[in-house]
Amino acid sequence: MTAPGSTGPHVSSPDSRPLVGVLALQGDVREHLAALEVSGARAVTVRRAAELDAVDGLVIPGGESTTMSHLLTVLDLFEPLAARLAAGLPAYGSCAGMIMLASTILDTRPDAKHLDALDITVRRNAFGRQVESFETDLDIAGITDGPDAAPMRAVFIRAPWVESVSPHVQVLARVPDGPAQGRIVAVRQGAVLATSFHPEVTGDRRVHAYFVDMVREVSGGNRGVGNIDT
Ligand code: GLN
Repeated sequence: MTAPGSTGPHVSSPDSRPLVGVLALQGDVREHLAALEVSGARAVTVRRAAELDAVDGLVIPGGESTTMSHLLTVLDLFEPLAARLAAGLPAYGSCAGMIMLASTILDTRPDAKHLDALDITVRRNAFGRQVESFETDLDIAGITDGPDAAPMRAVFIRAPWVESVSPHVQVLARVPDGPAQGRIVAVRQGAVLATSFHPEVTGDRRVHAYFVDMVREVSGGNRGVGNIDT
């Protein structure tokens, strides 16, 4: 059957890019929006439950995790976000975002809440005062290991590390050398990705491109192919 007015095989959706939100309560939101746009997504800010409902994936940016926890609670976003994550919403958390997604947080405030979407134990501000902020080159499984790929420059700012992971979690990167050698700094569990570092502050878009691909894998089956003529 051909729908009235159709001219031939086509996909009805005018824009098949996935819609990726950036949680915009605080933190470095703008840099993530720009990185997502150049990585093939439509990027929008998320501050309300209705905006959260609309997105195919969500970035939780760096910032301050206890403040983010407080704002999520007072804005009535905590429960809707936890529910969408539990239902499989693809998510990427950077630094404070990684802390928010974890199932256990060490060295946080007793009233800080977390979203329990990644089976990891995270230690806040783990790199300590001596090396609060630093940069290093990382090999990241699935992201920097293409045929002519180079390691990625990673920027850490009062970052957490992942103290332990459950067997369901893939470890993607570890600190290669120095006092924190071997510490886990990038992980993935199903549709949830997290890094201790901030890829949005460098020009390297490989982490964002990898996440947009993850969102496409999940949302691809649900979007935009409803009106293909036969
Ligand atoms: N130290 C911050 C926290 O505990 C995270 C820092 C960051 O996101 N750059 O939430």
